[in-house]
Amino acid sequence: MPYAPFDLSGHVALVTGGNSGIGLGMARALVESGASVSIWGTNEEKNAKALAELEGIAAADGRGQKVAAFRCDVGDEEQVDAAFAGTVEALGKVDSCFANAGIGGGAPSFHEFTLDSWRRVTRVNLDGVFLTFRAAAKHMVERGEGGSLVVTSSLSAIEGAARNQAYASCKGAVISMVKGLAVEYARYNIRANAVLPGWIDTPMTEGALAYDRFRDKVLPRIPERRWGEPADFGGIAVYLASQASAYHTGDLIVIDGGYAVF
Ligand code: NAD
Repeated sequence: MPYAPFDLSGHVALVTGGNSGIGLGMARALVESGASVSIWGTNEEKNAKALAELEGIAAADGRGQKVAAFRCDVGDEEQVDAAFAGTVEALGKVDSCFANAGIGGGAPSFHEFTLDSWRRVTRVNLDGVFLTFRAAAKHMVERGEGGSLVVTSSLSAIEGAARNQAYASCKGAVISMVKGLAVEYARYNIRANAVLPGWIDTPMTEGALAYDRFRDKVLPRIPERRWGEPADFGGIAVYLASQASAYHTGDLIVIDGGYAVF
């Protein structure tokens, strides 16, 4: 048998926020590696566009993998449980769950955050991860075949993020969440890890990355001398979904072109 731990034939992955940016980069690579994939997002139009693209990749690959898309607000308990049930109905099971959906949202300064603006961010970036992982963990425990839970955190969890504390607090909290999950669910052969992207060119960051002063200050501090791209997250998604990462759990994986160490 050739060494093929990254082959995801027969695997089913769920990617929240899979219709755009980093999530779509992960979904493309998962389908290209043979996995069936369910993407969740709030925007029907973006869901339909991403679904069509992923179906094209699946058809060209020809391993019979399927793709599904669900309109789901991850901050809403009922919608998460319904989309999870819909995913299992459409694709049969969930082997890996990427809690990637997220929104930005800062304030002119910390003391100007309102409770509403704080909670707008935490309901998606923290409650949304909890609800998604709760549904996935329950399913994986009941199925008894293990699984992989992966959250998209951020460098803002470990570096000071001025005027962005709601966002950064969620990204730190989800790291604590996956460490607890890694310990609690290892007995079920369920792994849990966090991916920490640096500055990635996606719709979320397009404003900042297009701003000259930001670009002139930040780009020279990235050893790779470029913004990250959604495709830079394909490899880590396939690795964490696959048997190649069978002994890798409770970790933080920084993907930032070297920004954090420079
Ligand atoms: P993006 O805007 O391209 O993608 C965000 C995705 O989340 C979209 O698919 C959107 O539909 C989905 N989403 C937003 N609110 C949702 C909700 N309530 N329910 C379900 N889906 C929802 O941005 P991105 O940069 O690809 O962000 C993906 C993840 O990466 C986020 O968690 C973000 O915080 C994180 N991240 C991004 C960067 C970066 O530089 N782009 C850096 C660190 C972390």
